[in-house]
Amino acid sequence: MKPLDPRLLRHARPARTFLAVTVLLGIVTTGLVLAQAALLAHVLAGAFDGRGLNGLRPALGALLAVVVARAAVHGLSEAAALRYAGVVRSLLRRRLVEHALRLGPQWSGGRRSGELATLATRGLDALDVYFARYLPQLVLACVTPVAVLAVVAGADVLSAVVIGVTLPLIPVFMILVGLHTRARTERQWRLLERLGGHFLDVVEGLPTLKLFNRAKAQAAVIREVTGAHRRATMRVLRVAFLSALVLELLSTLAVALVAVEVGLRLLGGGLPYETALLVLILAPEAYLPLRTVGAQFHAGMEGVAAAERAFEVLETPLPARPAASGAAVDLRRDTIALDGVTVRYPGRDVPALSDVRLTIEPGERIVVLGPSGAGKSTLLGLLLRFTEPSSGSLSFAGVPLEEWREQVSWVPQHPHLFDGTIADNIRLGRSGASLADIRRAARQAGVAEFVDALPEGYDTHVGERGARLSAGQRQRVALARAFLRDAPLVLLDEPTAHLDPLTAHGVQDAVERLAAGRTVVLVSHDPAWTRLADRVVRIDSGHLTELRSPQPAPPRPLELTS
Ligand code: ADP
Ligand code: MG
Repeated sequence: MKPLDPRLLRHARPARTFLAVTVLLGIVTTGLVLAQAALLAHVLAGAFDGRGLNGLRPALGALLAVVVARAAVHGLSEAAALRYAGVVRSLLRRRLVEHALRLGPQWSGGRRSGELATLATRGLDALDVYFARYLPQLVLACVTPVAVLAVVAGADVLSAVVIGVTLPLIPVFMILVGLHTRARTERQWRLLERLGGHFLDVVEGLPTLKLFNRAKAQAAVIREVTGAHRRATMRVLRVAFLSALVLELLSTLAVALVAVEVGLRLLGGGLPYETALLVLILAPEAYLPLRTVGAQFHAGMEGVAAAERAFEVLETPLPARPAASGAAVDLRRDTIALDGVTVRYPGRDVPALSDVRLTIEPGERIVVLGPSGAGKSTLLGLLLRFTEPSSGSLSFAGVPLEEWREQVSWVPQHPHLFDGTIADNIRLGRSGASLADIRRAARQAGVAEFVDALPEGYDTHVGERGARLSAGQRQRVALARAFLRDAPLVLLDEPTAHLDPLTAHGVQDAVERLAAGRTVVLVSHDPAWTRLADRVVRIDSGHLTELRSPQPAPPRPLELTS
């Protein structure tokens, strides 16, 4: 754990500006500290010399100005620090979310979603302390002692030697403490993340846990992780307090040493009064920033530990995606071709798809049958470009991702509904769609049937993950999104797998309306869908075979082709 991780400057450019501003303010502060000490020594020496207040008036005025300027600079650096902390925090948070999104639905990096959430919220908040307190002190700790030492050396060499010998003890001690706490702070962090991940898991699965009487046991697990986190935090705090005490002691002793040495020489008449005062006033100033940075060290390191975890995510390479050649595609006219495509998931020996050859003509309706785990969703993942083939070629590989996805709509097996209104959830199909368009899509998908009966209609809140809607209703909202999107290629994943026959029937009708005039790839384990198909293919353990004619099923009613 470095005090200043260069990756921070790389990932968050405003941090560079902040560092430059902080260094500048640090240098100004140091100048003011030196000026204040010199003026104070001059005024005090003058007062004891009996020069009278009149002669000291200019020096007193200057002293007052320096004190005011110091306060102003302090306020300024505090304000700058808080501002930049906010900027960097939200920048990193945005990057983190963007990168996690770009890594795609396949990626987890071994983390649970709750862990990522903890990192992106509470974790990055810890950067505030790092920026506002730790970093400015770190700069002062580098600049002030050196400047003070130089001035003292100019005034009195012996005192400079005493300070020069004792001063390095503090950073050396701090580095030792840092090495010691590194692992502890990291452990504290990992535990907090695990707690976040576990908590989300338990909250989401609460009904299941209740049913199987496991809620108590899970509460015990949470208690255990909480306990471990508390112990880790206490260990870090113990070291933090102890090391602050030792640093305090160390610098007090060093200042006392200087005071004794200066006092003795002053008594012996070997040192002018003003010089002695200057050295005495300056000596604590040399130790102060080092002591303060030591006290901020642990709070600052919490931010660094969280930032390091964030960089881990940010530096996870994106899945190898062939560079978009900028080739254009119009799925209303162009054929889609998969040629010898194999997909292997990391950590799996058996490929999820092997050597798949498939062409999809515009306007064609392909039904893909196959048992659970055969690779059907993986095939859709390829067409959605969530998954890249391990080998083989896709005819659309060169099309820029955004352009490709604009022409595709997807009704997943378990549609995700966001905690908003029904209208918001449908609008996901096309952002900025008017309420009239949303209503039309809802009618086509059969959403209108149940929404019209709701007191709040389209403004009804669906609850987290659409919990206040039934599975069939959620499926229809997902279909309404697809109607609204009006894309030429429609991908459907097991549209009726979890529905009762009556609801399934309604969804089937909606799917048939959606299929009209579009290219459709529908995957299902249910052969009933073959009546929708122009062509049926079968997947078994990743191997795709063409079934020339649709399976024995009633022919598709004619009016549906319109
Ligand atoms: P289907 O949709 O036909 O039920 P999938 O395409 O979801 O099947 O899965 C095909 C195979 O790939 C299964 O053995 C499944 O366990 C595996 N698989 C699917 N997704 C992943 C993943 N993200 N990581 C590892 N293995 C996966
Ligand atoms: Mg599936």
